Amino acid sequence: MLYKVRASLIKTSSALICLLLLSGCEALQSVDRGLYNAAEAVSERDRVTGRRTLSMAGRGQQIAQGNAAVEQIIAQQKKAGKKINAALDRKAYQRLVRIFDRIHRVSHLANERWLPILIDNPSFNAFTTGGTYIVVHSGLMKGLKSDAELAAVLGHEVAHTVANHVFERQTHQTAALIAGSKAARRGGYQAAFTHESEIEADRIGILYAALAGFDPYAASRIWERQYKKEGSARGLFFHDHPVNPERAVLTRNVAKQVKPYYRKGRQNPQSAALLNNNVLWRKSVASAPAGNGAGLSAILGTALGAYVQHQGTKQEANRQAQQIQVMQALDKKVVVLGEKVIDQNSWQVIWQNRNNVGMKNVVMGVLIKDSKGKVKRYVAHVKGHVRPDARFAAQFDLPDLTVAQLKRMQIKYYLDDAIPYR
Ligand SMILES: [Zn+2]
Repeated sequence: MLYKVRASLIKTSSALICLLLLSGCEALQSVDRGLYNAAEAVSERDRVTGRRTLSMAGRGQQIAQGNAAVEQIIAQQKKAGKKINAALDRKAYQRLVRIFDRIHRVSHLANERWLPILIDNPSFNAFTTGGTYIVVHSGLMKGLKSDAELAAVLGHEVAHTVANHVFERQTHQTAALIAGSKAARRGGYQAAFTHESEIEADRIGILYAALAGFDPYAASRIWERQYKKEGSARGLFFHDHPVNPERAVLTRNVAKQVKPYYRKGRQNPQSAALLNNNVLWRKSVASAPAGNGAGLSAILGTALGAYVQHQGTKQEANRQAQQIQVMQALDKKVVVLGEKVIDQNSWQVIWQNRNNVGMKNVVMGVLIKDSKGKVKRYVAHVKGHVRPDARFAAQFDLPDLTVAQLKRMQIKYYLDDAIPYR
């Protein structure tokens, strides 16, 4: 279905090229002006790169819609008797506001009035709904190790709004539904699109952190830690965000690029200029005014932009799908030979690799289902190479469970991540 959409986009653009070869006459100029307006109506300049992206909602509408969603969450919290912001934790909220203001001040939307919202939720999460609020869970504040790490997360969330991801996503869905795409309903495209958005938000967010005077390497430290704690879950299911080890590498590379802009503890005095032109991107502006081919370039910009972005996401989705297939195939021939209790909260498992290839960077996972049907996941990293037919062991540590309790629960081992080699 996606192929069909693309074919019709290309057909439209070649028809336009034919028209404009005859250009110069008044009538065609007004045609071009009309096209420019049409392109403007369904797209907008990306605030970061100046690239045109699809969008149907104006910023005012976005703020109204996004903020209404957050206000609903706040109302629900209050109804459940939960406190928010300073009433929940005065010190934590003050710290959040202080760091948030520094990030927001160097962002592309510094002219808007923004506010972070702290809510009572133990999970490690923060999110944006595309308006002028960033919602932060209390569990996130507790899980982060430094101000720089909090700045990295806040930069990432502000970047999602700045890069228009929330509404781009809605527009893509709407556009795909208009085109009758089944893929939009299946959500496969959605997942790949989100993956690209995450990478983009990481890049922009790390630049913000550096401009605001926070160590740009903090983001990669978060992902390295998440990998140690959670593995990649590649062997389990299709992810809608980049897996932890790759994200650690990507964010470290961005940090290296923007490091020259970092002034420890203070805002870079050139931060406004650096937002438009820096090592990561250069803001482009339309070269021809409307009426002189700008309409064509606007339409082409939209069509090609969507095309290129789509190709990128598709390649990435294919690459990930292949990796997941490899992992699931390898998993079938990694067999459990035995288990040994180490102490109350840890036990060792011995496996054999019956694949005809070796594996390195092996992460083994275990899924534990308690009596209420809730599933928990733990991982264990295996050091060194695991050759074909080799036996290998890994130890699982359960800080919140005892091995005795485990005996009454359903457990399942699986290969969480690995790099095969011959
Ligand atoms: Zn994100």
